[in-house]
Amino acid sequence: MQDSYIHKGLRKQLVKLLQNKGINDPKILEGFFEIPRHFFIEQGFSEWAYKDVPFKIDADQTISQPYTVAFMTQLLEVKKGDKILEIGTGSGFQAALLAFCGAKVYTIERHESLYTKTQTLLSKLGFDQIRMLLGDGFEGAPRFAPFDKIIVTAGATAIPEKLMTQLRPNGMMVIPIGMDDDSQIMYKIVKKDEKTFSQSTHGNFKFVPFLPGVERKLKQ
Ligand code: SAH
Repeated sequence: MQDSYIHKGLRKQLVKLLQNKGINDPKILEGFFEIPRHFFIEQGFSEWAYKDVPFKIDADQTISQPYTVAFMTQLLEVKKGDKILEIGTGSGFQAALLAFCGAKVYTIERHESLYTKTQTLLSKLGFDQIRMLLGDGFEGAPRFAPFDKIIVTAGATAIPEKLMTQLRPNGMMVIPIGMDDDSQIMYKIVKKDEKTFSQSTHGNFKFVPFLPGVERKLKQ
């Protein structure tokens, strides 16, 4: 894996594009400039890493579009020391950005093949503060709860109840919710206390579906 001046130049352009689209959190922009996003997609497709589009990764999943990742992270108002649970590790890029912003990150993936591959990548890049879990995100991570924030990076059809119970009072969740697989609306949900929530919506997005269960690797 190599990070060259060409990659850095492409990252600079991507940062400009994100700024033009309304991303203004300096730490998020710095993260997009510093993190070598091309390491998170298949070798040989480097130039795709710096276009503002989603891209296929293993297990028929996708690395989310840069703008989507930046937008959700900005919506989450990440502060240094925040304890954040991510559902849908995928390529690991979103988790890396959260860690770059100073969060203590727990992230769950249901595909064992992605879990293994991403674990190797994140440790190679030195993201040791990210705790990766293989499991069903519908269950959350009760062992490590409560969380300050939860970010769901797969398209849900409703607010996952168990995840809400794992948020601390005044904690927040950012989650795309839609009735079908075609598109979702981005929700920001703030938990006032065990019974009261407030919610706001933040535009349309398209995610791979939030699915139950764990997909194990086939034994060789
Ligand atoms: N955050 C990722 C986005 C990956 S796409 C990134 O930065 O690349 C969404 C991911 O959610 C996929 O890898 C998919 O396998 C995973 N996913 C879907 N349902 C899940 C569930 N119930 N539990 C954990 N992961 C899930």
